[in-house]
Amino acid sequence: MTPRKSDWQNIDYFLDAFAKVSKNFIDDLDERNVAQLGVALEARLLSPAGEGFQSALEILCDQIVPQLSASRGPRYWGFVTGGATPVATFADWLVSSFDQNLSKDGDSIASDVERQTIRWLTELFELPEEFDGIITTGATSANFLGALCARQFAGLKQGIDVAKEGAYALDIEIFSTAPHASMIKSLGMAGLGQRHVSYINALPNSEEMDTADLARHLSQSKVKAKVIIASVGTVTATDFDDLETIISLAKQYDAWLHVDGAFGIFERLLGSNHLSKGLELADSITLDSHKWLNVPYESGVFLTRHLKLLFGACDVPAPYLVSNPLRPDFMSLGIENSRRFRALPVWMTLLAYGKKGIAKWVQSNIDCARLLADKIQASSYYELVLDCKLNVVLFRPDSQGLSAKDADEKAEDFLEKINAQGKVFLSPGVWQGKKIIRAALSNWETQPLDVEIAFESMLNVAQDYHENLHS
Ligand SMILES: *Cc1c(COP(=O)(O)O)cnc(C)c1O
Repeated sequence: MTPRKSDWQNIDYFLDAFAKVSKNFIDDLDERNVAQLGVALEARLLSPAGEGFQSALEILCDQIVPQLSASRGPRYWGFVTGGATPVATFADWLVSSFDQNLSKDGDSIASDVERQTIRWLTELFELPEEFDGIITTGATSANFLGALCARQFAGLKQGIDVAKEGAYALDIEIFSTAPHASMIKSLGMAGLGQRHVSYINALPNSEEMDTADLARHLSQSKVKAKVIIASVGTVTATDFDDLETIISLAKQYDAWLHVDGAFGIFERLLGSNHLSKGLELADSITLDSHKWLNVPYESGVFLTRHLKLLFGACDVPAPYLVSNPLRPDFMSLGIENSRRFRALPVWMTLLAYGKKGIAKWVQSNIDCARLLADKIQASSYYELVLDCKLNVVLFRPDSQGLSAKDADEKAEDFLEKINAQGKVFLSPGVWQGKKIIRAALSNWETQPLDVEIAFESMLNVAQDYHENLHS
């Protein structure tokens, strides 16, 4: 099949096929196993002449679609996984129809939509107007931009434009307590070094930074530039660093403060007494849209009050691509030059659901996590490892009378068996040296009924285990 312009005369045919595949997939979400374990793709050589659309579609539907996960559904509780609302999914479909390139201004309104999206996000999270930023592919790339800005800041303090001269002579110390693995990766990619972190103690039985220890480290540090990386919602215990205290220390020691709030920032939509108080004074912030905002992958956000530094790190050194520093093009603020209209699903989500609509599913996820935690606590088969603070539940099978090693093995065994049942998908974790099971709820559709279904599956696994013990 040689594509020709006239193929668009068949647009109804493509739309019909698209509608069928999409509808079947979404309709069947509840029937399929939440995760497909042990999948395999049939080997196939590259087709020299092309199979044609009809045949490619059949292969797709036979061999690929049945082996996909239900990660967009309400019981995929592994990692921190958002679904995709109908509005966001609709807008994401259109991103391909429109096929805009948001590298530079000058040919369409699309970049302005991204600018408006960033504005709306600062309003959503009650952040001051000085914050500006860019839509990224996720929190990892946002953390990478955070590392680049911190690096640029550190350079300027010692007369080096790191983007131009390199990081060779940089005198910098980075302080953090429980950085996400993607932050460590980002420090490596930014040339600052994955191991170049001065770890600050956590408070007892938590991942929250001990600010007295931070103060001690800062006062003893002799480097020319200091960087603090704090968390708003750590990935295991959902702890929030005490940003108000950290900010005052950052001011005192002229340190850069980057905050990773990938999913925890959504707590700001609830009530008025935010756990992330002080966030409005951070130098830069990471958040994800493909988690709790329930926009399709890949969608994250990087915000900073120092857009000039981001521009300094990411501007494209080509005369024919020159960007106006007063109104920089997005290619001069991020990793990619050519960029998808990734802003559109976020823009349409914010427009259609509003703060209230989004807050509703955030609160509902928190309530469902509480419900699950209560069920676990009341069950003799399972034990809650840490009290549930937000949308994450940490638990393991009952470990009474077991050695640490046996308890770890039992947790691994249960996790494997629960996931194999296909009713819910959970992740492994480690808490205070113990292997645990972790459920993170961040899908807009999750309801108490899903908690019932998942918990029933967990009980089945536990009952089978005990029957086998006694037989
Ligand atoms: C998920 C997560 C990340 C990484 O996000 P991706 O979107 O997967 O790149 C970073 N930080 C935190 C706290 C997260 O929860």
